Amino acid sequence: MSVQIDNLVVASGNRGKLAEFQQLLGPLGLRVQPQSDFGVTDVEETGLTFVENAILKARAAARASGLPALADDSGLAVDALAGAPGIYSARYAGESNNGESKDAANNAKLLAALKDVPEGERTARYWCVLVYLRHADDPVPLIVQCDWKGDILAYPRGNGGFGYDPLFWIPECGMSVAELSAEEKNRLSHRGRALQSLITQLKESGQVSE
Ligand code: IMP
Repeated sequence: MSVQIDNLVVASGNRGKLAEFQQLLGPLGLRVQPQSDFGVTDVEETGLTFVENAILKARAAARASGLPALADDSGLAVDALAGAPGIYSARYAGESNNGESKDAANNAKLLAALKDVPEGERTARYWCVLVYLRHADDPVPLIVQCDWKGDILAYPRGNGGFGYDPLFWIPECGMSVAELSAEEKNRLSHRGRALQSLITQLKESGQVSE
C-alpha cells in the first residue's frame, strides 16, 4: 500500500533547479524543502552515469532528512565534443567557482572548445535523470530520463535560466533557453518533462493526489 506524501526534500543546492522544482511541485500541495534545510551539502558524484549520481544524491538527502527525496542529475552533451561535458557539466571549468561565476567559466570553456566548429555541427542535448526515493533504503526508486535537443550558439543570448542556457539554442522556438519564460522552459525542458512524467507516476501510485 502506498502512503500519500505531504513534503519531500530536493537533493540539490542549485538555485536554478530548486526554483524549477518548486514551480512544478508547489501547485500539487507538496511542501518542497531544499536539502540545505537538513544540513546536507553536495555529495561527491562518483558515478559514471547520471542515474548513479542521482541515486547517490537522493539517498544522502533521504537519509539526512527522513523524508522522501527527489534528486536530479543533469548535464549537457555536445556531439562535436563526443558527449562532453556530460556528467561533468557542473564542474567543466573546474571545482573552485560557484554560482554565476561557475556558469560563466563553464560557458567560456564551452565556447573555446567549439570555436572551430561551424554552425550545423554544433548539435547538443541536455539530459536530466530524476530519481525519487520513498526513503533512504528504498529498493525500487522511480527513475525518469529525458533529453532536450538544441544547438550551441557562438555568443550568449538572454538573461533567464541558469548554467548553459544562454548558449543553448532551441530551433523550434527561435530563441535561446535563457530567452524563454520560466513557464515555457518548464513546459519544454528535459527537467520539466521528466518531472511531469514523475508526477504522473506518483499520482498513479497514489503518493500524491490528482
Ligand atoms: P548537477 O547539479 O551535478 O546535476 O549538474 C548539472 C549541471 O548541468 C548544471 O550545473 C549546469 O551546468 C548543467 N545543466 C543542467 N540542466 C541545465 C539547464 O536546465 N540549464 C542549463 N544548464 C543545465
